[in-house]
Amino acid sequence: TPAKLLEELASSISAKDSITQAYISYNLETALREAESVDLEKPLGGLPIAIKDNINTLGEPCTCSSKFLEKTFTSPYDAGVIKKLREAGAIPFGRMNMDEFAMGSATENSALQLTRNPHDPDRIAGGSSGGSAAAVADGTAFAALGSDTGGSIRQPASHCGVVGLKPTYGRVSRFGLVAFASSLDQIGPLTRSVDDAALILQAIAGHDERDSTSLDAPVPDYSSKINDGVRGLKLGIPAEYFGDGIHEGVRENVEKCIQKLKDQGAEIVPITLPYTSHAVATYYVIAPAEASSNLSRFDGIRYGNRDKTASDIIDVYHRSREVGFGPEVKRRIILGTYVLSSGYYDAYYTRAQKVRQLIARDFRQAFQQVDAILSPVAPTPARKIGACSEDPLQDYLSDIFTIAANLAGIPAISVPCGKTSYDGSEELPVGIQILAPHLGEEMLLRVAKAAE
Ligand code: GLN
Repeated sequence: TPAKLLEELASSISAKDSITQAYISYNLETALREAESVDLEKPLGGLPIAIKDNINTLGEPCTCSSKFLEKTFTSPYDAGVIKKLREAGAIPFGRMNMDEFAMGSATENSALQLTRNPHDPDRIAGGSSGGSAAAVADGTAFAALGSDTGGSIRQPASHCGVVGLKPTYGRVSRFGLVAFASSLDQIGPLTRSVDDAALILQAIAGHDERDSTSLDAPVPDYSSKINDGVRGLKLGIPAEYFGDGIHEGVRENVEKCIQKLKDQGAEIVPITLPYTSHAVATYYVIAPAEASSNLSRFDGIRYGNRDKTASDIIDVYHRSREVGFGPEVKRRIILGTYVLSSGYYDAYYTRAQKVRQLIARDFRQAFQQVDAILSPVAPTPARKIGACSEDPLQDYLSDIFTIAANLAGIPAISVPCGKTSYDGSEELPVGIQILAPHLGEEMLLRVAKAAE
């Protein structure tokens, strides 16, 4: 029964999560109450799903792993995806740790707790959806939702050895997702298998009039062609994604997986995506610019933390934000404000928007030749905790393979493809990334299933 499932899940969380620390909180009582009236005939009937802590769920905290919202904010409504999950019979269960406001690649920027990789507790789970990925890998969640602005579903999935899918921009409603960079953000599933990813995507995809960027396109049956295989498909290998700086164990496992797809009858086609080298720079102008605007709502008046000692309104803003935001969030706000300021706007922001178009064009041209594209997810397996604390730029650079999909708005998935030793650890998971054209989730899942 759903109640028994929830109770077993809760006891596995209390047994294992003290090491992994993927869960910020969970509310067994509310979930059990919900389980009483759940319809088991529904596609996800009675299934508990863990939720990244930046997706609003009625009556629950939504901290975004920030001191700004911790203890002071309770969601007054359900996000679009939560509404859809409930309609499909699922039970949202657990609030998952993340980088503060989804800014980071390691979940080390959480202001609340440190999530550890279940494969090696001295290593990061990846980020920003590190809690979601670690719980699915650890067996303390059946499936989870994450959000992906520049890789935050796919990279932690790869580091933890689970499946992570970022849908086409607009495929899944962003209503009720706390905005980081609105033109890049997308919610998606982290699961134990490609079949599960298809099931969860089925439940959450579709139009939502409360999100003005939501696509009003029919939702196909994502499981119907998932077993069709790759025979006769053309799969592109972009030269730019296999250059220097990739760990040998990552390269070997990804190449082994490409060979496996070839053995199943796929045609492997070398392609080129020439603007790839500009993706990181472009993203780190556009994402902070949008973040600086989105985070202006955290003013000490409307949400969460309010400084009580301030002498006037400006002082309320200053002090509330000074205490409420962590260092990475402040860095992004300053960077974003700078690139949007008069005199620099054209040099940085407008130029980045132009390069973004060129990156999207690269993909459109490539998809005239191939059905899907294959690449690594990240240049290395999960690094040690603390290894980048002095140099955030190192983490920015490691987003190189995931960021372009967000800039172009196309769907992408990370699928486990093997394990490797790295930097003193024996068996760390490696993921392969598959990218498909706009609204090509069926193709994405079909190739992913063959790669699995
Ligand atoms: N690592 C990237 C960043 O820090 C992506 C984060 C995300 O996808 N939310 O911006």
